[in-house]
Amino acid sequence: MTMVIGLTGGIGSGKTTVANLFAAYHIDIIDADVIAREVVEPGTPGLQAIADKLGSDILLTDGSLNRSKLREAIFNDHSLKQWLNDLLHPMIREKMKADIEKTTSAYCLLVIPLMVENNLQTMTDRLLVVDVDESVQVQRTQQRDNVAAEQVRKILASQATREQRLAAADDVISNNGDAESLKQKVAELHAYYLTLSQSPAA
Ligand code: ATP
Repeated sequence: MTMVIGLTGGIGSGKTTVANLFAAYHIDIIDADVIAREVVEPGTPGLQAIADKLGSDILLTDGSLNRSKLREAIFNDHSLKQWLNDLLHPMIREKMKADIEKTTSAYCLLVIPLMVENNLQTMTDRLLVVDVDESVQVQRTQQRDNVAAEQVRKILASQATREQRLAAADDVISNNGDAESLKQKVAELHAYYLTLSQSPAA
C-alpha cells in the first residue's frame, strides 16, 4: 500500500504551491477540492441526488451544477447544509480512497484544506501542515484573490486554528519565507518521505 502523506493548512498558507513542488518530483497528488467537484459532475449519483432534493432549477442549462445557487441555498439553511455534507462527504472519501489505490508513485500526497476540521488525517500515514503567520496568510490571500482583508479574516476564523493543526501534524513546513526556501524545505521532505516509503515498516 502506498504511503499517504496528508497535506493541509489554512487559507492561503501555500498548500497548492507546496503540492506543485512535490508534483515536480513526480509524486501523485490527490486533491480533495478536485474530487469534491468530480462527485457532482453531470451523470453522477451526487448531482442526481441534489437535483432530486432541490429541483432542476439547481442546474445550469448545460446540466452542470449551479454552484452559486447551491451556495445561496445552504447559506441560511443549516439542515440543508448538513444534508449536503452527509451526501457528499462519504462520496468524496470513497473517491479519495479509490484514487489512493490507483497511485503509482513512491508515496502520494492527499491534499485536504479542511483535514483537521473533518478529522480526515485518519486517512493518512503522516500529516504535513503548511504553517504561516496570520498576517502573511491574509496578505498573500488578499493579493491572490483581490479581496478585502476582512473577508480573509472571516474565512480564517471559520477554520481550525494554527494550534489545532500543529497539534495534529507529524511534519511542518513554515512558509513565512520566500519561494526558494520553500523549495528547499520540500526537497528535504521529499528525500525523507522516500526513505520512509522504502523502509520495511512503511
Ligand atoms: P487556498 O487554501 O486558499 O486554496 P493555498 O493554501 O493553496 O490556498 P496557495 O494558493 O498555494 O495557498 O498560496 C497562496 C498565495 O501565496 C499564492 O498566490 C502563492 O503564489 C503565494 N505564495 C505561496 N507561498 C509563497 C512564498 N513562500 N512566497 C511568496 N508567495 C507565496
